[in-house]
Amino acid sequence: MASVNPPRGMRDFLPADKARRERVLAVIRERYRAHGFDEIETPVLEEHDRLHAGVGGDNEKLAFNILRRGLDADAVRAAADDQALLSDLGLRYDLTVPLARFYASHRGELPSVFRSIQIAPVWRAERPQKGRYRQFVQCDIDVIGDASSRAEAELIVATLDTLDALGLDGADVRINDRRALDAMLEVFGFPADERPGVLITIDKLDKIGPDGVAAELRVRGAAAGAVDAFEAFLVRPQGGDRLPFGDAQIRAALPDGVDDAIVAHLVGVGEAVSAARGADAAGFEVPLQFDPFLVRGMGYYTGTIFEIAHPSVSYSLGGGGRYDGMIGRFLGQDVPAVGFSIGFERIVDLVTLGEADAAEAVVLVHDRDVPVAELLALKAAFVAEGSRVRLERRTKNLKGLLERATADGYTAFATVTAGAARDDVEPKPLG
Ligand code: AMP
Repeated sequence: MASVNPPRGMRDFLPADKARRERVLAVIRERYRAHGFDEIETPVLEEHDRLHAGVGGDNEKLAFNILRRGLDADAVRAAADDQALLSDLGLRYDLTVPLARFYASHRGELPSVFRSIQIAPVWRAERPQKGRYRQFVQCDIDVIGDASSRAEAELIVATLDTLDALGLDGADVRINDRRALDAMLEVFGFPADERPGVLITIDKLDKIGPDGVAAELRVRGAAAGAVDAFEAFLVRPQGGDRLPFGDAQIRAALPDGVDDAIVAHLVGVGEAVSAARGADAAGFEVPLQFDPFLVRGMGYYTGTIFEIAHPSVSYSLGGGGRYDGMIGRFLGQDVPAVGFSIGFERIVDLVTLGEADAAEAVVLVHDRDVPVAELLALKAAFVAEGSRVRLERRTKNLKGLLERATADGYTAFATVTAGAARDDVEPKPLG
């Protein structure tokens, strides 16, 4: 017999878990909407070629592809040379590629600056482990059509506000710019074709430290003079960390020679976030930390990149960045875009929210002989008053029955005998 477990890396949710997840999602949705973002929905499937257009980085390799219907033996044999012949569709591995397609398809119906919300599952054929699933929910906000720092600032403020509303205040945003990374690598003398590989190594700095990074770059065969210069820069004494976010801190953290416009863009983000948020928990004027070695894996980022750090956990709670080139790939005309994604599965376990449902939730425990019509009339009367109502036939283990109802969020109970009308039933508090 087939297994009754869900597919590997995917989960079922019991009612209490589902209710908890929905409460967290409701807060996220409400906060995003308060900041002027509007929710859209796109299909879970996208065309195979779009998911494999080279913009999704490593995630493209993790896509679940869907077999074409009605393949005959000849078609399967032909696919030996070209696997794309086997598959025409795939499950989306993120919400950004579908958003870019959506925008390209509906541009004429959307405002010139479009602020979208997408809250939905995505699928990746990863090796499942704790906190790493094959189906998981992402909560994305994106601003399309605004190249200015206003877009980043709105995203960061909306995200921090959402974390506050979830009781996760004290978060910081680590921020960098892909162009600053590229300029930095150029200053040290890494040739352009080596830089993507060098970035993969730099991305491990937190884990393997400066020595580890330099060693790995040497193993990779990166330009030796550039590795020496970069290593010296990584281990140099620096005091910039203690500066508040702004021009001086950013310049202290970068080698000379990085374009002023990149620094000015980041400073602009900081000023706007500061105006909206004020000081962070650590007393910094802005809840932003410039991190010149923040890379973020996605290949499609072209400018600012950011990640949420929270003192309670060592991993990031979400991230995002600018992907100005992607919509142009689908539309044939470049449109600036930037997005921020909260890693829902990671925060949902950190958050404790009270029961949002203030209405009374009543269990009506009835005797076996109460006619169904009477029961349903009684239930309808409670529902009409705004209560949530569950009918339970009385069992020997009434205590167990009521404990289960309490665990499911029920707050009151009443026993119902044949002939009882609404006025005869007086619920008593549970628990
Ligand atoms: P990414 O699209 O890879 O930048 O991921 C965005 C967010 O989704 C991350 O910050 C993670 O919190 C979350 N995430 C990524 N992969 C997984 C996974 N396999 N399971 C659960 N959450 C994930």
